[in-house]
Amino acid sequence: MNTRRTRIYEGKAKILYEGPEPGTLIVHYKDDTTAFNAQKMEVIDGKGVLNNRISELIFTRLNEMSIPTHFIRRMNMREQLIREVEIIPVEVVIRNVAAGSLAKRLGLEEGTALPRSIVEFYYKNDALNDPMVSEEHITAFGWANPQELDDIMALSIRINDFLCGLFLGIGIKLVDFKIEFGRLYEGEMMRVVLADEISPDSCRLWDLKTNEKLDKDRFRRDMGGVVEAYQEVARRLGIIMDSETPERSKPKLVKTD
Ligand code: UDP
Repeated sequence: MNTRRTRIYEGKAKILYEGPEPGTLIVHYKDDTTAFNAQKMEVIDGKGVLNNRISELIFTRLNEMSIPTHFIRRMNMREQLIREVEIIPVEVVIRNVAAGSLAKRLGLEEGTALPRSIVEFYYKNDALNDPMVSEEHITAFGWANPQELDDIMALSIRINDFLCGLFLGIGIKLVDFKIEFGRLYEGEMMRVVLADEISPDSCRLWDLKTNEKLDKDRFRRDMGGVVEAYQEVARRLGIIMDSETPERSKPKLVKTD
């Protein structure tokens, strides 16, 4: 890692550096793993490498299908070049199956298929524990305007459809996931684009046959085998070969298409 780079922001799982050109940033995926608003914290060796690769694959596919994202290209094992955006302070959660906070709040059994996909919004604010909010709150407080919110809804539904198909094809059920959006300024123009990451840190992924958890719930629930689960997702996506491990000392992740 080049330590002379200007660090712009350090989050729980990622660091942002100034990019090589104006309007670009470099995002560095750490092995730090947190849950419950960072009350639970651990370093999981190799997790950042896997999330970098998994998120790269998904964002590349989304770009190819004209879903605008901040992603430009992966630079190395832990870093990506991205476009600088103004993050909209709303976390969008899309759910297909009841789990986590929804199951708890509404007394649903985990694993119950939802009558249709459900989109929820949470205000990005650690001090308040990311409270759930409605579209009314978002527009009233000016976090996003109605047009931006329409774009966010339409993009979220397309992303969910694409991801459900992608994961179904590799024997994985997409239970739910969280995404974030940002404003990309291009001269006079502004577009809402997908930002942040999509990885097993931000999705619930269950094996289709066994319902085995292949995501961050393994960490949240102290189930162990976190990196092995992320590796399994990467292996099924064709990112790593059967025999490979994401050890930092032996970077030999190869397959490109
Ligand atoms: N999620 C996330 N970051 C958060 C909160 C949730 O990535 O700060 C993801 C989480 O991994 C799951 C989905 O959003 O895939 C829905 O999470 P939920 O509301 O059930 O909350 P949790 O049970 O994770 O607290």
